[in-house]
Amino acid sequence: MWRCPSCNSRAVGKVGHEHYYCSDCCVEFTRRKTGTKVFEVADDGTLVALTEGQPTI
Ligand SMILES: [Zn+2]
Repeated sequence: MWRCPSCNSRAVGKVGHEHYYCSDCCVEFTRRKTGTKVFEVADDGTLVALTEGQPTI
């Protein structure tokens, strides 16, 4: 089970290939070997990159 890299919640659902959504803080994030990227979902549905995390492997 993934945890949200933003709020550390477990309320994370998969929305696509390597693409997850946190229903607690309403961010989406992608997990790759190169690291975790967090996106904020704007009102019009576009994704705005917030932070780039450390590599997980
Ligand atoms: Zn979260």
